[in-house]
Amino acid sequence: MLDELNRIRKSASLEIPAAHSSERLEALRIQFLGREQGALTLILRGLKDLPESERKKVGAAANRLRTDLEILFAHQRETLKKGAGTSRLLSERLDVTRPGIRVRRGHLHPITQVLRKIENIFLRMGFTVAEGPEIETEYYNFDALNIPDNHPARDMWDTFWLKPERVKSERLLLRTHTSPVQIRYMEKNAPPIRIISPGVVYRYEATDASHDIEFWQIEGLMVDRHISVGNFKAVISRFFSDLFGGKVEIRLRPAYFPFVEPGFEVDVMCLQCRGQGCSVCSKTGWLEMMGAGMVHPSVFKAVGYNPNPTTGGVQGFAFGMGLDRLVMMNYKIPDVRLMRGGDLRFLKQF
Ligand SMILES: [Zn+2]
Repeated sequence: MLDELNRIRKSASLEIPAAHSSERLEALRIQFLGREQGALTLILRGLKDLPESERKKVGAAANRLRTDLEILFAHQRETLKKGAGTSRLLSERLDVTRPGIRVRRGHLHPITQVLRKIENIFLRMGFTVAEGPEIETEYYNFDALNIPDNHPARDMWDTFWLKPERVKSERLLLRTHTSPVQIRYMEKNAPPIRIISPGVVYRYEATDASHDIEFWQIEGLMVDRHISVGNFKAVISRFFSDLFGGKVEIRLRPAYFPFVEPGFEVDVMCLQCRGQGCSVCSKTGWLEMMGAGMVHPSVFKAVGYNPNPTTGGVQGFAFGMGLDRLVMMNYKIPDVRLMRGGDLRFLKQF
């Protein structure tokens, strides 16, 4: 009997530490300690058939062996568990020092970049930014701006009409300029007014390097008592100086726009040649930058303002400029169609 116990001890102490899976370990446990047919279990069960003298000795040895085996099993179970942890660590290893995959970052479109710069300049001068719809009614786009149906000035804009939708029997169109925002804003607000209104406008015309059917305008409006052309020159000189950096010369030339009287074109002295004449300014020394003028009394009447300064009424100036053109000058871009072309080779340069 004791020989049998030694045989079990020898075999168990070799096989248990060599078990490399929990399945194998469980099989060994059943083999030695299994409740039904475990080798040691059978010996313990047979103790009662042994003579008194032997029973004590063998019983003690068998119990000692059972304790030793249980310790061996527990130890090996622990070893396997640690091993499993280690192999998981190995398979999911993460090298935190490895360089990451570079995320490609986008950036703002050159039009947005210049627009934000412009907005900041006007915000510093106390202007606010106003916006309006890109689909307009005939009234806001033309009539309220002193351009009635039979007015020849309607021919100055080639218009995208929306058919057949109408609002209150009025025809709808894609706005041809940002000036309708002036009307909408004055209808809802009392003077004094200082706003700029950037936005996209649409013209139904053939495209080429300097014309697109869709482009950005910035509208400006200042209304108060005693606003004069002098105020306009001061505001706009400051604007161009801040935008281009340093002192910028401007000049006003008489021009016609239906919603202003008097109206003028604003030129900026060529930044390239300082007025000497070069290819950028077509040898004139000046660059045409915006249309402007003193708000026409008919426009004030249309929004319910009193246009007569002698009876406490208001005066004001308005201006409008093409943002695309400004961006093109700023970055020396040769073709306006590149702006909305979506070509990354173009956009990545800014
Ligand atoms: Zn020049």
